[in-house]
Amino acid sequence: MEADGHRDAAPAPPSRPAADLNASPDLSAGLDLSAGHDPQAWLRLLTDRHGPERVTHVEQLPERPGSLAEWPEWVAPEVYAALAGAGLRTLWSHQREGMDLAHSGHDVVVSTGTASGKSLVYLVPTLSAVVEGFASPTGRGATALYLSPTKALAADQLTRLTTLAVPGVRAATYDGDTPTEERRWARDHAHLILSNPDLVHHSMLPRHRQWSRFLRALRFVVVDECHVYRGVFGSHVSAVLRRLRRVCARYGVDPTFVLASATVADPAEHGEALIGRPMTAVTTDGSPRAAMTAVLWEPKTDDESGARVSATTEAAALMADLVETGAQTVSFARSRAGVEALATSTRRRLAGRQVLSPDGTPPPVAAYRGGYLPQERRELEREVRSGQIRGLAATNALELGVDVAGLDAVVVAGWPGRRASLWQQWGRAGRAARPALGVFVAADDPLDAYLIRHPRAVFGEPVEHTVMDPGNPRVLAPHLAAAAAEVPLTDPDFDLFGPHARDVVDRLTRAGILRRRPTGWYWAREDRATDHVSLRGVAAVVSIVERGTGRVVGTIDEASAHQQVHTGAVHVHQGDSYVVTELDLDAGVATVVRGDPGWSTTAQARSEFRIVRRDRTIRYAGAEVSYGAVRVTGQVTSFVRRLPSGEVIGQHGLDLPERALETMAVWWTQSEESLAAVGVVAEHIPGAAHAAEHAAIGMLPLMATCDRWDIGGVSTDLHPDTGAPTIMIYDGYPGGAGFSEQAFGQWRAWLTATATRVQECACERGCPSCVQSPKCGNGNEPLDKVRACALLRSALADGV
Ligand SMILES: [Zn+2]
Ligand SMILES: [Zn+2]
Repeated sequence: MEADGHRDAAPAPPSRPAADLNASPDLSAGLDLSAGHDPQAWLRLLTDRHGPERVTHVEQLPERPGSLAEWPEWVAPEVYAALAGAGLRTLWSHQREGMDLAHSGHDVVVSTGTASGKSLVYLVPTLSAVVEGFASPTGRGATALYLSPTKALAADQLTRLTTLAVPGVRAATYDGDTPTEERRWARDHAHLILSNPDLVHHSMLPRHRQWSRFLRALRFVVVDECHVYRGVFGSHVSAVLRRLRRVCARYGVDPTFVLASATVADPAEHGEALIGRPMTAVTTDGSPRAAMTAVLWEPKTDDESGARVSATTEAAALMADLVETGAQTVSFARSRAGVEALATSTRRRLAGRQVLSPDGTPPPVAAYRGGYLPQERRELEREVRSGQIRGLAATNALELGVDVAGLDAVVVAGWPGRRASLWQQWGRAGRAARPALGVFVAADDPLDAYLIRHPRAVFGEPVEHTVMDPGNPRVLAPHLAAAAAEVPLTDPDFDLFGPHARDVVDRLTRAGILRRRPTGWYWAREDRATDHVSLRGVAAVVSIVERGTGRVVGTIDEASAHQQVHTGAVHVHQGDSYVVTELDLDAGVATVVRGDPGWSTTAQARSEFRIVRRDRTIRYAGAEVSYGAVRVTGQVTSFVRRLPSGEVIGQHGLDLPERALETMAVWWTQSEESLAAVGVVAEHIPGAAHAAEHAAIGMLPLMATCDRWDIGGVSTDLHPDTGAPTIMIYDGYPGGAGFSEQAFGQWRAWLTATATRVQECACERGCPSCVQSPKCGNGNEPLDKVRACALLRSALADGV
């Protein structure tokens, strides 16, 4: 998608190295361009084949020219020579702006589009500092730490650095798989260490003395793909980065932070939440962008069942059509299983139509999901670039650093969670003077259904706020304990960790976990503080194990295990059916046998909540809305077996323990009188409130960066703590994650969108696109779609 002016114009040789830091390669090599390149024509083909009514909206996104910048004076000549040698001679304006800030010691977050060359922003200042540091007595006058959310991305960066080969620069990855010997080498000799926040937490900070020489020279900390750190994971990473700053201070250094992010609404705010001090945001993208025809697409309904065709199936049909017409296409699905299904279905369709490449073989369609080895990914990237692969099905793993861009068309199956993700995925298509086609195919859920009917919510709104709560006491407690184990805590540290820090430390001290001495708070136990917390969720995990073979089919967190792998459950994993013969919670094992018994199962659960604390309340005309702490208790009590026709063939009791969750929630109450006034009388309230709750959960991701699995809800016709009909939506994590707080702040907009969706849905009695929920513990009963509409309109007090 970027101009070719700054690269050699010759087609890339097949073995071209992966040092592709700044630009998409010239893809015209190997592609058959004679077929004609016209996104409008491709769209006409799609509507001819599937019907014009499938398209709910077309948006023409104009081309954006690039804005060039000069190279700064301060770049080390060796670094410039290496970059120039890799064909990277030209800078875009945002790269220059970001690298100047970093070089002058200002914390900076660069938030620009896919393939806009964000790596250069941190590579140029860090490599220059490292090279200048050669002159110090140790030869390591400056070091840098690069953190990415995945091991794979760190490995990619290492490949790029190795290919650049700046003389004298030593770089190494440092992750869970690094052997001890290599770890020692990295600590003692590497200038650049490529790692992840988990390793900083588990290894670098607890053993900071071993790292002292690296830390003493630490000039830059790079946090790549920082938009990934949100919700509870974000809170953990923010605590780790603050601990890192504290340990650095102990060694007399204050490294500059350089953050790179996909487009987010509030990069400066997000960056500050992550590192704990203000930073400058660079958001004006100077790289060129190709024009795009962007299409919102509603899948057809199946003639027999009347159900909507899944987004994945529909996307496969579209990808097959596009590949057939000569457009190199990538499709994104939300799950690994979806990716496999998409690729298989596309291949089958192409084979069925006997579509052949010029060489007489079917056009290759590949599947790409996370977990591939770096070499496998390089190979795939190469085959996409050369035009060999004509269709690629991928999960959002492709969002994270895999270097594929410049395709002809992108099909996104199901809302990727955020507008920023949609732009990133669509951004894989198009390059200079070659406009692209982007299609979003709606999945059968309320949010997707709403978005394709309200294109302004896709194209007109800024990207969502990144939700994170660095002050969550549940998250802070183990990190403050770990911080005390690293360097004793003293009063000034409390500013770094936020307003709750002192309270949390006092609680830890009373519990005997920390000990207070005149010089500060110390870790008081024998074991390692950091062993008590994992950054990626603290929930216990249940393994799903096949009987006889002992093969681990997968894992599931304990909360979901009660619902999905209870004894007797039929569990579908990556398209295969298993029957659970026993769930042993103590051992953390669900034993399964493979096979499809011919029925499905649905767990039945009861759940309640009590209000622990009310932090804020707003009184609207139709409802009273509150935010605060709640205790949610739930128990899976039984399950039903159903035939594919929906007929229930049995209900069976279960003996599972109750589960409790202390978390944060938003809830609202409406008076029985006001509900009766809109025709929702007492007997209808449970069905109306339950349906409204489901729809509201489905629509919350429009306001906050969460998905419906991050949150839960409970509705009741009369709550003991409020004395009124109450609908409550909570964060699905102990201590909260910030989602419900966001919901409270945007309650009117959120409920307005919810009411609009329910009202607009063409179904009669509720469907997955409005009020049915795939995770309902009550088998989607009772649900009253029509009265949910009345209830929501009454809450908003704007008539029915
Ligand atoms: Zn519906
Ligand atoms: Zn429900």
